[in-house]
Amino acid sequence: MKQYLFLFFFCFASLYAQPPSEKVSVQLQWADQFQFAGYYVAKERGFYRDAGLEVTLQKFDPKKLSVDEVMAGRSTYGIGRSSLLNDRMAGKNVVALSAIFQSSPFVLLSQKSADIKTPRDLKGKRVMMTSDFQDTISVRAMLNSQDIRLDQLKIIEHSFNPIDIINGKTDVMACYISNEPFVLKEKGIETNAISPEAYGFDFYSDILFTSEAEVRNHPKRVRAFVDATLKGWEYAFEHIPETAQLIRERYNTQNKSLESLIYEGEVLKTLAYRRNQPLGSITVDKFRRISDIYKVMGIEQNEKRLEGFVYDDTHQTVLMNVDERSFLHMNTIRYTSTLTWPPFNFLSESSPPQLQGIAVDFWKLISERTGMKSSFIPSSTLSGVLDAIKTKTADITLGTSISKEKEPYALFSKPYASFPNVIVTGKTIDFIPGLKALEGKRIAITEGYSVAEAIGAKYSNITIVGVEDTREGLKLLSSGRVDAVVDILPVVAYLINADHQVNLKISGTTEFDFDVRMMIRNDYPELKTIVDKAIDSITIAERQRILNRYIAITYEDRVDYTWAYVVVMGAFIIISIFIYRQFEMGKYHKRLLKMATTDPLTGLANRIRLDERLLECHQFYERTGRVFSVIMIDLDYFKRVNDTYGHLIGDKTLVALTQLLSDNIRHIDTLGRWGGEEFMIICPETEIEGGKQLAEKMQSVIEKYDFPHIHTMTCSFGISESRKGDRIENVVGRADSALYQAKAEGRNRICIA
Ligand code: GH3
Ligand code: MG
Ligand code: MG
Repeated sequence: MKQYLFLFFFCFASLYAQPPSEKVSVQLQWADQFQFAGYYVAKERGFYRDAGLEVTLQKFDPKKLSVDEVMAGRSTYGIGRSSLLNDRMAGKNVVALSAIFQSSPFVLLSQKSADIKTPRDLKGKRVMMTSDFQDTISVRAMLNSQDIRLDQLKIIEHSFNPIDIINGKTDVMACYISNEPFVLKEKGIETNAISPEAYGFDFYSDILFTSEAEVRNHPKRVRAFVDATLKGWEYAFEHIPETAQLIRERYNTQNKSLESLIYEGEVLKTLAYRRNQPLGSITVDKFRRISDIYKVMGIEQNEKRLEGFVYDDTHQTVLMNVDERSFLHMNTIRYTSTLTWPPFNFLSESSPPQLQGIAVDFWKLISERTGMKSSFIPSSTLSGVLDAIKTKTADITLGTSISKEKEPYALFSKPYASFPNVIVTGKTIDFIPGLKALEGKRIAITEGYSVAEAIGAKYSNITIVGVEDTREGLKLLSSGRVDAVVDILPVVAYLINADHQVNLKISGTTEFDFDVRMMIRNDYPELKTIVDKAIDSITIAERQRILNRYIAITYEDRVDYTWAYVVVMGAFIIISIFIYRQFEMGKYHKRLLKMATTDPLTGLANRIRLDERLLECHQFYERTGRVFSVIMIDLDYFKRVNDTYGHLIGDKTLVALTQLLSDNIRHIDTLGRWGGEEFMIICPETEIEGGKQLAEKMQSVIEKYDFPHIHTMTCSFGISESRKGDRIENVVGRADSALYQAKAEGRNRICIA
């Protein structure tokens, strides 16, 4: 009783009392300068205080690594580089909250007079760079991609004194673009900087992070801290001189001049705001790319560890009442499932094998979000699962359907996913419009699966053959002993693929959907309401992410036959990309170069590569007067494709178009993805008339093509050619305006500038 009373007051207090300010700290990872302006401003201008936080900024100390400080709990938050990812890979449970700088300020700096402009110019030069592999990874990857070996440079010990560039102690120095160039400029020395970003090695810098424990135990505090910090940064960048003044007055341990702090602020601002992204943006996709680069550079990566690395609190929190909270406080929830039901709950092929699947991932999300304690009780069969709930040796099971016979002993959660039951037949069967077409036939259904009841009741002429599991059903079908198998779409798609059942296919859908729910022992009503609330809190994006992980397709409510086709196609595309990656990339540096200059979705040249090619053509034109043409292509009304069919189909359309375009260009032309759904073709030694002919050919090929799912699609084209006195931007600019004109005139046409 006492315990209950205490709990009651505790909950009451936490719900209604104004929280006193909470003490937290941040470990800075360098000496005071504009690099930490957002934190100073948030503190000095009271943004932290207003958020109910009392924040200590822990001074830089070379002996204190911020990751260690945060993991040991000596600091609540820390600031790290992209190498934070490797700490995560090494088993440290850090969570990246926000990336203050979208690109790293890390560059290779030299005197302008030394004329060191590209990585090639570094050969034989003395370069001051630390030996820390991770800190210098972007430079190393850039050199490698340009086929330059480290032993072709003379790496010397870092003095951290930019004056050494002037006094001849070194030719090149690895440093921050926001600091050292200013010091030299003040001495009247102009500099060149080689930035890995320009070569496609784009890393985050100054990532605000914390521990998983902090995110789990103090979710509101984390959100409040991140928001107040970003508010501080926004203010700092909007008021650079004022902020520089503040740093000079209160945080000037480095004795920097006001001008140098202002300079630093201006440069950092350009690194913080990129391509219209909001301040502090951080995405798993960019880390995945960074992880790929690390992998090629020989740092072991584990894709699984990426999960949960980037902070994402877009979901709602689960608000529980007093009963529910005390229920979770008193009980460890025992969950059960079989290990043999792919892709819902099954064992991974890793060692040791781990329980994984759609049902498992939903469960993980639910248990994380509610903060419950749980333990797993494996069952060897489906009836074992049911027994465990019946006898209350387990409390909840992960993926079941409602049925009459389970109701006396179990409660059911809301459905967390829904799939159609589909009809599988031999490959020679064309298309089955529905179960009615199977009257008089034999179909195999897993014993105990409730759809058998429903089918039996509605179609009395169908013979249902009970099988132990879906695999057995598919075997009977393969050997001709039944005419069809009915089961849930992801299950059959998975098994057909995994078992290489090339002679089988999904031939149609039934009208029966399978709503996947959790089943709960009937004396635990609190657990049901908790799980229901947690299911409600799962966002569409989170749901999609889980489903995509196992079925690699866009999941829509409207399910039809095409969808089944997409499952198989989706798997096929993924496998092809995988194989392509394995074989295509031969040599080490070629892999890096390719990664840096190709677009991951289409495999085409990316913007960096197109820019290089434009420069080459431009220089050739200036030397020889040989004209080149540029064709810009933009898909018409592409937003509608995404809106109607989902992004995945949108992506596939882009890939299909890529194929069409590349099949129709000449060897010497360069086709690339300029961005989004815009493509560019650079045609060397081609006058505008030639460009126009090419575009006309493309236009008619596209018009005639039957695109998967969407069938028809058109593009608009803008063409320009190089002219006397042009800068490269002018050629591209004219093609762009011509494209704009083509859009304005009604689309699906070609305009010339
Ligand atoms: P129009 O060009 O004819 O004026 O109309 P639009 O609908 O194509 O308009 P706009 O060029 O403004 O929209 C481009 C859309 O392309 C927006 C974005 O959702 C989509 N898009 C851009 N990149 C990708 C991508 O990589 N994948 C997918 N699926 N969609 C993309
Ligand atoms: Mg468009
Ligand atoms: Mg566009």
